[in-house]
Amino acid sequence: MKVPRVRIAHLPTRIEFLERLSTALQGPQIFCKRDDQTGLGFGGNKTRKLEFLLAEAQQAGARTLLSVGAIQSNHCRQVAAMAARYGFDCILVLSGSEPEIASGNLFLDQLFGAKIVWANRENRNQVLDQVFQDAQLQGKKPYKIPYGGSSATGLMGYVEAINELKSQESDFDWIITASSSGGTQSGMLLGAEISEFQGKILGISIEDHAAQLRESVSRLIREGSALLGLKIDLPLEKILVNDDYLGGGYGVMGPAEVEAIQMFASLEGLLLDPVYTGRAAAGMIDLIRKGFFDQKEKVLFWHTGGTPALFAEPYLSMLQKS
Ligand SMILES: *Cc1c(COP(=O)(O)O)cnc(C)c1O
Repeated sequence: MKVPRVRIAHLPTRIEFLERLSTALQGPQIFCKRDDQTGLGFGGNKTRKLEFLLAEAQQAGARTLLSVGAIQSNHCRQVAAMAARYGFDCILVLSGSEPEIASGNLFLDQLFGAKIVWANRENRNQVLDQVFQDAQLQGKKPYKIPYGGSSATGLMGYVEAINELKSQESDFDWIITASSSGGTQSGMLLGAEISEFQGKILGISIEDHAAQLRESVSRLIREGSALLGLKIDLPLEKILVNDDYLGGGYGVMGPAEVEAIQMFASLEGLLLDPVYTGRAAAGMIDLIRKGFFDQKEKVLFWHTGGTPALFAEPYLSMLQKS
């Protein structure tokens, strides 16, 4: 079954061997899949999902894209860029309060011409529903893109990404990815089942406890597989999730994230982000130090993007002081 898709991401993204980081950690060989370089508006993993979500919005005859996220949401920034590129209006419901100076992703949202509606973290979904209804009444033909772009349609981006990986190089023992709303990891897992990718896929949880994240991933796999006319249902124990690195909670950059960001930058000239890849890399580094991986294994760190948040307050000041 063919799910409609637009083509905008710069694909395939490169795979790079991180020789100096691998040597410094004296563990497995570490490679990096550069989904921070998907091209549109500083890129990131959401661009792959949005290729499918935007096609769905076009088919529905929508004119306005709506989505929801945190003040420094990379997802919302990529939605805003996509809307600009394809001639949609864009309304973003962001949790937080309007800062005096917009920085990082929020600055980019505004450059891309998105309208911002502010909400609390607790009620942002209700606000989104209200904004949707209002937009409908005003004839704006809104289309709601779920949190993180994680729906059956969105996860097709990562089903395809595993196909792409298989066509590049497939003998990785591990894929390590940041996992938050679960769409990326569930797409990878579904793609791995379909294309018989043999490596293990470990999600470092950014936000939720393992049981909850595993449930989301499992549900998304079922929904995504149904969209493809398949019946794939992974047992929960095959969904590998580590929630040891939640630290101070979502969006709180601690010493482990700072160390990971500094190591990648100073050893490889590679930029991580404070919220997602910084945490996932911190988890990977800790697991390597604990001897979790075999020396002979090949580990693929899947870089999911997010780097504009490096330039967002308060992260920028915290990184400069450390
Ligand atoms: C959204 C995001 C993730 C998490 O992806 P999910 O599909 O929500 O699990 C990881 N890294 C970055 C940079 C992101 O913006």
